[in-house]
Amino acid sequence: MTLLDTALWSGRISTGSWQPGHGGAYDVVAPATGEVLGSIGSADASDAYAASARAAEAQRGWAAKAPEERAAVLRRAGLLFEEHAEEIQGWIIREAGSIPPKAGLETHIAANECFDSSALPHLAQGEVLPSDEARWSFARRKPIGVVSVIAPFNFPLILAIRAVAPALATGNAVLLKPDPRTAVCAGVSIMRVFEEAGLPAGVLQLLPGGADVGSAVVDAPEVGMVAFTGSTGAGRKIGETCGRLLKRAHLELGGNNAMIVLPGVDVAKAASAAAFGSWMHQGQICMTTGRHIVHESVYDEYVAALVEKANALPVGDPASEQVALGPLIDDGQTRHCAEIVADARSAGATIAAGGTHEGRFFRPTVITDLDRDNRAWAEEIFGPVAPVMKFSTVDEAVELANDCDFGLSIGVLGNVSDAMVIADRLDSGKVHINEQTVSDESQAPFGGTKSSGNGTRIGGATTNLEAFTEIQWLTVRPEIADYPF
Ligand code: NAD
Repeated sequence: MTLLDTALWSGRISTGSWQPGHGGAYDVVAPATGEVLGSIGSADASDAYAASARAAEAQRGWAAKAPEERAAVLRRAGLLFEEHAEEIQGWIIREAGSIPPKAGLETHIAANECFDSSALPHLAQGEVLPSDEARWSFARRKPIGVVSVIAPFNFPLILAIRAVAPALATGNAVLLKPDPRTAVCAGVSIMRVFEEAGLPAGVLQLLPGGADVGSAVVDAPEVGMVAFTGSTGAGRKIGETCGRLLKRAHLELGGNNAMIVLPGVDVAKAASAAAFGSWMHQGQICMTTGRHIVHESVYDEYVAALVEKANALPVGDPASEQVALGPLIDDGQTRHCAEIVADARSAGATIAAGGTHEGRFFRPTVITDLDRDNRAWAEEIFGPVAPVMKFSTVDEAVELANDCDFGLSIGVLGNVSDAMVIADRLDSGKVHINEQTVSDESQAPFGGTKSSGNGTRIGGATTNLEAFTEIQWLTVRPEIADYPF
């Protein structure tokens, strides 16, 4: 039996053991072919509420374990992600429509998230504070309790494990609600890894399902924090609920990321960075390069190089062919992309390459001659579309880059001293000089400004410790103090 053997999870959810959910079951479908890969159990709200109560119970025992025991589970989980990487990657390729290198990146980072998190239990869990009284005074970190992790479909494994691993390491229980379209590669895989790693039953539970299950894991009374990655619309709703219920909400949301290309740039290298930034995983990444802001002196050459790449890159089923781009996740996302491209054209833009699709296979697309109100420029597309605009002065480039509802990632390509001056003026959670906009490492703090999130961060020991714990003020006196009455 393999780690992800369908016999283990077919028709089931995992709430301490694998069993049918009250939401029934649904097909796991390969977006490239429509092939049914299996059937996964679906939770409903009642499953989520019961899971939450069970998690609160299990969490107490888990938090009471010696730090070394928790660390050991996380280390074993990291090793299991490495050991079973090929099998998990197979699911990421088929279920999420990913090319193999992207699937490899996901399992590699998943292992690193576990290894990095295995250090958290042994870090100092607070501070000794000076006190004006005759007492000892401490700020000590405690787990939040039950944490809900809600993840999207695009980098499904990384975006789930980056919250699951530090939440567990710091002594929390976790309710995991993956996107229904990627519940095996980002749900079953994590559940099975932690089962094999020796995590006690009930500390991590898997609740596949849609937005209704997502809502239930937000408002279940035992849940103290929600780590959400997904669209700005859904994030706002979750933030509103958490505000009303006074729960912590860590919201990692959409993006429409700019890349500024400076005069004197190596155009061939810039175009390669641009192609990767806009078309990696079919542009379905929150950090995708969605706006290319290119100096007029290199604009024509840059567009020509990007168009040449667009016309040459192979698109197809990554499970059976060597391709650069796989399918979009579903028909809805394909229609959305096609509509934005059609609207862009009607508004006067030029489709310099691509713009067409066969089924869910969308050609890499380059759009020029647009103004900033054009939907293709103003909105997050979540498809393989590279809109390009020209600038003359640095002020203009900075203004264009910042003129956006989102603030997740910005790249600046070219002369480093000019790029440094520009970087200081950018409103963005991440800035990458001489890189495109898509980048993530388990040890780096990740988060966005404006509509890309509520300013929280995930990633790196300091950040994660802060994100997944509460602080308790603890004082101790040698004996009861004298009080005035
Ligand atoms: P989505 O918001 O529709 O879904 C994401 C997850 O939230 C899914 O599991 C979904 O079932 C759940 N969900 C949806 N509505 C919910 C609700 N009302 N309550 C609780 N849960 C709910 O996102 P999507 O459109 O499938 O994913 C793409 C979006 O995610 C893009 O906007 C992208 O930029 C964003 N994203 C952000 C990051 C980041 O780190 N900032 C990373 C990846 C994707």
